[in-house]
Amino acid sequence: MSNGDSFSKIADEISSTSGKDLPTRARIVVIGGGVGGTSVAYHLAKYGEKDVVLLDRNELTSGSTFHSAGLVGQLRADPTLTKMNMYSVELYRELQKTDTPPTWNECGSIKLASSKERMEEIRRQIGWARTFDLNLHEISAKEAQDLFPLMSTEGVVGACFLPTDGQVDPSQLAHALANGARKDGVKIFTHTRVLAIVTENGRVKKVQTDKGDIECEIVVNCGGMFAPEIGRLVDVRIPIIPMSHQYVVTDSFMERSETTMPSLRDPDLLVYFRQEVQGLVMGGYERDSKPWTASETKFDQVPKDFNGRLLPEDWDRFEEIVENSQRRVPKLGEVGVRTMINGPEGFTPDNEFCLGETEVGGFYVAAGFCAHGIAGTGGIGKVMAEWIIAGEPTMDLWHMDIRRFGAQYNSPSFTLKRTVENYETYYDIHYPGEERQSARPLKVSPVYEWHKANNATFGEKAGWERVNFYDSNASASTTSEALRPNGWAGKYWSPAIAAEHHATRTTAGIFDESSFAKFQVQGARAAEFLQTVCANDVVKGVGKIVYTQALNKRGGIECDFTITQTDENTFLIVTGTAFGTHDLGWLKKQRRELKFDDVSLEDVTGRFACIGLWGPNARKILESVTPQDVSNEAFPFMSSKMITIGDVPTRASRITYVGELGWEFYCSSEYALSLWQSLIEAGKEFDLVPCGYKAIDTLRLEKGYRAWAGEINSETNPYESGLGFAVALTKKENFVGKQALEAIKKDGVTRRLRAILIDDITRVALGNEPVRYNGEVIGRVKSGGQGHSIGKSIAYAYLPIANTEPGTKVEIEIFGEWIQGTIAKDPLFDPTGERIKA
Ligand SMILES: Cc1cc2nc3c(=O)[nH]c(=O)nc-3n(C[C@H](O)[C@H](O)[C@H](O)COP(=O)(O)OP(=O)(O)OC[C@H]3O[C@@H](n4cnc5c(N)ncnc54)[C@H](O)[C@@H]3O)c2cc1C
Repeated sequence: MSNGDSFSKIADEISSTSGKDLPTRARIVVIGGGVGGTSVAYHLAKYGEKDVVLLDRNELTSGSTFHSAGLVGQLRADPTLTKMNMYSVELYRELQKTDTPPTWNECGSIKLASSKERMEEIRRQIGWARTFDLNLHEISAKEAQDLFPLMSTEGVVGACFLPTDGQVDPSQLAHALANGARKDGVKIFTHTRVLAIVTENGRVKKVQTDKGDIECEIVVNCGGMFAPEIGRLVDVRIPIIPMSHQYVVTDSFMERSETTMPSLRDPDLLVYFRQEVQGLVMGGYERDSKPWTASETKFDQVPKDFNGRLLPEDWDRFEEIVENSQRRVPKLGEVGVRTMINGPEGFTPDNEFCLGETEVGGFYVAAGFCAHGIAGTGGIGKVMAEWIIAGEPTMDLWHMDIRRFGAQYNSPSFTLKRTVENYETYYDIHYPGEERQSARPLKVSPVYEWHKANNATFGEKAGWERVNFYDSNASASTTSEALRPNGWAGKYWSPAIAAEHHATRTTAGIFDESSFAKFQVQGARAAEFLQTVCANDVVKGVGKIVYTQALNKRGGIECDFTITQTDENTFLIVTGTAFGTHDLGWLKKQRRELKFDDVSLEDVTGRFACIGLWGPNARKILESVTPQDVSNEAFPFMSSKMITIGDVPTRASRITYVGELGWEFYCSSEYALSLWQSLIEAGKEFDLVPCGYKAIDTLRLEKGYRAWAGEINSETNPYESGLGFAVALTKKENFVGKQALEAIKKDGVTRRLRAILIDDITRVALGNEPVRYNGEVIGRVKSGGQGHSIGKSIAYAYLPIANTEPGTKVEIEIFGEWIQGTIAKDPLFDPTGERIKA
């Protein structure tokens, strides 16, 4: 039987089961029979879940999957996604050996640089690839042409080649996975449309279809561009927009050959190519994108019968792509086009997948694959199955986690603007520190107008406008321009950052941190709940502040909190601006699972502004505007109380993220401007300087203060990341992750987070760069930046325990150049903490 025959046999068999024998109960129902749903079902079954049902409203693959171009590229900016894509390739090789091989063709891929900047990007990616053992290597324009003879080398600066990339038949892939899933017990029903999902006590209970109802514990929404519509059945917002995406298939014009040319991407020209038998597939990302059925005022409305269908050809929008493609492959000017495919595909507002459990218990989503779903199929199925079985992600999936989307994504207008912006800049080089421009300003602090009037440069985080730095501070230091980081790291840099850093260390800095996410936890069992969820002993008495992590069962860090007990039964949790939805989601899930339903959890982010005042002069400034005693004795480090500042009642919390004496002031938002102005006025006498977030980053790196999603995440535990001091193994409560930590402590850690110092402060690592010792790659940079007080560049990386001795010389590859660094023990500045306790 030919490959095609075996696939049509599977399709026939599955079709013949449609609707018949639909069970009334199943543990897990997967909705969607594209590559996403079939891969999730395949992996669930492979990991032992036998009671799984997969439903599709039409035929398998009849959504976006059937019209995909089938390119599989592995390397992505996110390390986790790269690992997932590498797993996909392993899986496709294995599936190729089965009786339903998906025509996996490991022909390799070439990426061209048609600009100097792109070549820098390529060199940076080659460095990352080294940390994954991916054989990505630089090749010349001529070598690229040898591999892909149809290309012109005109304007090509250089290229890279990854031999293990390839192409696969997307429909065959989905059928191969469906076949494997069925063999392992998954029941597949096509032509079975999910019409409603019933929930009870915040959890999914039942799926209602046009062929009958299925009671279930877990629903996995693998609906591709239909996922938002399925989400709306349980009032969950899934921010995905169907976008028109096009490619053409040419007539045959090449000699028949045993081998296939590698696929070719030329992002500067916005185009990609792959061989299709004796012709070419050519597609790209248009600058003028086209959302489909979604508008600024309406959610997507994909027609009920849109299966196995395409959109009309849109040649006008494709014109630039066609012109560019002929510049790179001149032959395309001569050959005819056999067909143009214009298919809709689900895109998210940041071009990353949308994965994970939603706010409805047991309702998972795996969708929004942004035209790289075929590359991700294997990895998506694997991580989702693991997540569902363990009840928590088994890898750091933050960049793909649905909980990265805040409430602003409930708005179709915000979602659309961001999605369009990301689609249209898909192939651009994204420099570190680059800010998104659409839908701004959205959330602003009460002090926003003051910042604007005082020359602030704003960045955006989670919809908030935040001060990066004040341009007016740039002239404060005459030597600072010499500190501009080399290359990309210097692109969005300002001497103001160094000036604000020094002001905070030498006099005082004032920071508007109103965007911090804040939660109020309340109830007679609030203390017990927090003791069960957090690793530290967080109940130290009213007015005490505790720094803690909330861990998963593996001991990985899910949240990084400061918690203040404000009265006997009330706690204020403060976490990073971008992590509000994620962290509140985590707490709510723990509350549900640990049966603390009587504890109230409220997001109070907008209710309270937060203003930070730090530096050697901070106390003198505060003393001049408050009647309260703020001496070290009366107001020690890690304590919090209500005071007044000028006319404003505020909570003052003696804590710091910059490593200096000072306070965070939490006042009700309507007072924030008055509070800010009072401090600015009082500070004049003490050289107080308004400062921004970029300075905070340099200050905290010197102090070794960790950032979640920077140096710590769900894959790192407190012991290896230097946070063992915030673990209270001896407290009486059996907190989540305790068992895992005890085992880690007993066995000892295998790696440790270490600071690496580079003498030349202008050579800055940006993250993901390889670290090597004695010629061997031993780690990957997690974060990097400048330390203006110590006069060095700082990078943090997890290194094998044998290579963590301070003083050890290592090398970091920064843009293709190996730069020497020295391992140092952090904190790098004020190691005994004298300044903060002064
Ligand atoms: C033109 C084009 C080119 C592409 N090229 C590439 C490429 O080269 N490489 C790459 O990696 N990716 C590429 N992609 C992306 C890739 O094809 C998609 O990411 C992937 O196919 C999406 O799979 P999915 O399973 O999420 O969604 P889909 O394939 O759309 O599957 C969703 C399924 O859910 C079903 N469904 C919806 N609602 C219900 C309901 N209520 N009840 C039951 N079932 C329901 C639908 O019928 C559908 O079958 C391309 C996409 C397009 C459009």
